[in-house]
Amino acid sequence: MTLSAAAMRSLIEKKRAGLEHSREEIEALVSAFTRGEIDDAPVAAWLMAVCMTGMTLAETAHLTASMAASGDTLVWGAASVVDKHSTGGVGDAVTLVAVPLAAEAGAKVAKLSGRALGHTGGTLDKLECIPGLRVDLGLEEFKSQVLRVGCAVAAATASLAPADKKFYALRDRTATIASVPLIAASILSKKIAGGAPAIVLDVKHGAGAFMKTPAEAEELGRVMRDVGERLGKRVRVVLTDMNEPLADSVGDALELDEALAALSGGGSPRLRSVAHAIAAAMLECAGCSAGALAPVSGLRKFAEMAAAQGGRLDEFDRAFKPARFIAAPSSGYVRSIDPRTLGELVAAGKAGLPIEQARRTGLRLRKRPGDKVERGEPVIDVFETGAALLDLERLAASLTLGDDPPASRQLVRALS
Ligand code: URA
Repeated sequence: MTLSAAAMRSLIEKKRAGLEHSREEIEALVSAFTRGEIDDAPVAAWLMAVCMTGMTLAETAHLTASMAASGDTLVWGAASVVDKHSTGGVGDAVTLVAVPLAAEAGAKVAKLSGRALGHTGGTLDKLECIPGLRVDLGLEEFKSQVLRVGCAVAAATASLAPADKKFYALRDRTATIASVPLIAASILSKKIAGGAPAIVLDVKHGAGAFMKTPAEAEELGRVMRDVGERLGKRVRVVLTDMNEPLADSVGDALELDEALAALSGGGSPRLRSVAHAIAAAMLECAGCSAGALAPVSGLRKFAEMAAAQGGRLDEFDRAFKPARFIAAPSSGYVRSIDPRTLGELVAAGKAGLPIEQARRTGLRLRKRPGDKVERGEPVIDVFETGAALLDLERLAASLTLGDDPPASRQLVRALS
């Protein structure tokens, strides 16, 4: 399929006028851009036109399918194979808990994950804190582990949806990330290429999420569900609150440690609640019963998965000693702790450090919104190896105290 410069120009004009593209037009654009036959400038103009005028569901589905078909695709025989995706948050260690839970209860979990993006942590970075653990599984190795062990968490390889990688890089340079159809197509194209017949989407909203309000998250969730279903997938969307860090920990090794605690019934109750809801949605979507979710067996399954990927879990050092702490400046209630600031501070603190030190850099909340504190009491522990890296002044400013506890917010809600 070729796309002349004149045809590309008329696609830009059409989208600028808010008109609908045909399947053939979108396929031609995606294929020409992925093969390097049109340069970035007209595609950037087209992306901006999409940001301004939007896309219909049919167009979003064509874009998703074309990007998914731009590279390798996986095919699974078993109907119980399920994948999950989170739109990203702070202290979001849900995958590490929900994947083994769902696998132990009967689903086959084929989880393709990414690395840290901006202020949000990456599942692969957390898993790699386990000595020896590999996330760069080949597609055949990934498949065989999922079918044999029941779960695998692997890096989405360069060969899956390469069109998305090109589009995302250009969107990042041209301020065209923030568009519901473009985000939906980007996320879903990778999930469609991964081949799982069932997909669970954790769409986060709030101060630490890309979607700021429940209404925005709902819109993105609805579009992704409708597009996924048009492309033949079973999709469940769970909307979750990200106005405070989900786990008590922020930082790769600390979050892994807390996920292991959650798999034994410990850690933050918020993390356990969301992980349980996501595992239940995965089981339901995969056609399995959600009745048998049990944390302890999830821990066994996690260890089995880690070992299958070369990890030596017993060598993961779970002894963490805080270097400093942030104390409450007055007595009262914790009203909020800004998750975005915490995520940004940890990301900035890690930058440039040797990998082992970067992994063990992080924060842990001793108090949460709603908790009562006395003046001088530690609220956030700071974990650093070596020199002081985190900006304590900014960290202290992330904390708001008041005379009353904040109103409670709903943590988890299924998209109706
Ligand atoms: N995550 C993605 O994978 N793609 C987007 O466009 C935004 C977030």
